[in-house]
Amino acid sequence: MGAPIKRPEKHRVAGAILSIKWEPKGAITQDGDHCFGVTANDTHDVRIEDGLPPFLERDTLMHELLHVLIRRGKLDIDEDEEEKVCELLGTALVGHIQDNPTFWRFMTKKVDK
Ligand SMILES: [Zn+2]
Repeated sequence: MGAPIKRPEKHRVAGAILSIKWEPKGAITQDGDHCFGVTANDTHDVRIEDGLPPFLERDTLMHELLHVLIRRGKLDIDEDEEEKVCELLGTALVGHIQDNPTFWRFMTKKVDK
């Protein structure tokens, strides 16, 4: 085992550096309902609940990243469809990354554009 991996607090999306804030359990709500993560409509900064089980933590982070990509890409889909896309692809992508580390080492190797 190597050194523990720090949870990300920033990420780059299409050249912009966006923040990821880890917040206490129960602190994140949307329309009055508790949720594990949320993405700000204006800044696209992400807030994730601290202390989630490891797969759910990654699933939630990927889910919010997909919201960021959809909104920054200005895709014209309604809120319910956006949520379905983020739920489906968030879980699928985290599962794919976990199941295929060699594939993702290939994908994350720095290359010329
Ligand atoms: Zn969502």
